[in-house]
Amino acid sequence: MQPKDAAAGDIVIAGAGLAGLATALGLHRKGVRSLVLESSPSLRASGFAFTTWKNAFRALDALGVGDKIRKQHLQALALRVISSDTGQIVREADLTRTGKGGPNEMRCVRRDLLLQALEEELPKGTIRYSSKIVSVEEDGDIKVLQLADGSVLRAKVLIGCDGVNSVVAKWLGLAKPSYSGRSAARGLAHYPDGHGFEPKFLQFIGHGFRSGMLPCNKTDIYWFFTWTPSEHDKGVDESEAKMKQFVLDKLRGSKVPEEALAVVVRSEMSDVLAAPLRFRPPLSLATASISKGNVSVAGDALHPMTPDLGQGGCSALEDGVVLARCLGEALVGMGGGGAEKERIEAGLREYARIRRWRSVELIATAYTVGFIQQSDNAVVRFLRDRFLSGVLAGRLLKMGDYDCGTLTN
Ligand SMILES: Cc1cc2nc3c(=O)[nH]c(=O)nc-3n(C[C@H](O)[C@H](O)[C@H](O)COP(=O)(O)OP(=O)(O)OC[C@H]3O[C@@H](n4cnc5c(N)ncnc54)[C@H](O)[C@@H]3O)c2cc1C
Repeated sequence: MQPKDAAAGDIVIAGAGLAGLATALGLHRKGVRSLVLESSPSLRASGFAFTTWKNAFRALDALGVGDKIRKQHLQALALRVISSDTGQIVREADLTRTGKGGPNEMRCVRRDLLLQALEEELPKGTIRYSSKIVSVEEDGDIKVLQLADGSVLRAKVLIGCDGVNSVVAKWLGLAKPSYSGRSAARGLAHYPDGHGFEPKFLQFIGHGFRSGMLPCNKTDIYWFFTWTPSEHDKGVDESEAKMKQFVLDKLRGSKVPEEALAVVVRSEMSDVLAAPLRFRPPLSLATASISKGNVSVAGDALHPMTPDLGQGGCSALEDGVVLARCLGEALVGMGGGGAEKERIEAGLREYARIRRWRSVELIATAYTVGFIQQSDNAVVRFLRDRFLSGVLAGRLLKMGDYDCGTLTN
């Protein structure tokens, strides 16, 4: 295959996930074109759905797609935390309560619908599918991207939104993501005639696992299950059937209510997925080069975290808005005088400054919440069920009550 050289001058975004599409759409709203290279042949909505907190809706509003997503999804009204050891409700929290930035908002958003909504707003041809970046080299200030199909692209700006195994994060020298020692299974249950569940977020904690479920809309319920694999569970992730059976056995061995079990039973095999949970050591980000010259990273490429706050995807959307604002202003001339190269570099430095401590806090808090909620240790269980469950629920709401700003401020 002949190498195809793109014109130098492109802003190239690696990855068409939440971070990549949010960045591309933010830049588009600022009047700046970008090219998104996606390794998959089509949008990759792996993971079915995700809890989407107020911070994410602020970002989606800034991008102009918030109301479309609201119309497609139910608002969760309450969080009910149930001990898997006793079956008792240990905490009930109002998810609409007013925080420092007004009433809270949380919905369980289907990934496919969100990715499609972001893609639809982009000019045709913005995303180039089946385009996996395998290496990054330099030719002066230009980044030369080698693709798996043999083509070569030259980029004036490179933004890595290529997920937890990011090639761009590696190029920046960010610390390798660590295995948390935990794994997660996720699934979606379809009820074409309506599920009849209340719009509540149910969480089951303790008994060595952390699980939860909530409706996305009137016909789909999303569920998740995290646990610490041991010698006894070897091979459960070999197939969807084994994974589903494993989750059901664990839930049946605890005090999780029957109606919650029925949701997992209902999921088709194609709607079950398992993955080890990884995170970037948070303190490594305190001094890391989140941007270097004309290169930076966003989303999981920057801050992979355990899913215990439900904030990885939400903060990827925040990243997209902040990055598009900082880079867009540098490129459309509002970033002060000076040569374009300096303005781009200053824009990316400003983005890195804004996102550094938010990333550190999210990763560290998620890890701690997961450890406490999942623990089967008697002391942790005692403290958690009596004193800490309110604090943990409060952290969920607090971390989601963040304002990344708009595309202009
Ligand atoms: C079990 C679990 C539950 C979760 N629950 C929640 C939740 O409830 N709420 C929440 O907010 N977050 C949640 N998350 C986190 C969330 O899924 C991620 O943080 C989010 O998907 C990150 O988006 P991203 O765009 O950065 O990365 P990704 O979604 O991983 O997208 C990266 C994209 O880049 C592409 N790509 C990869 N490498 C290359 C390459 N070399 N070249 C070109 N393209 C490439 C991939 O194909 C992919 O499309 C959860 C995660 C897990 C594991």
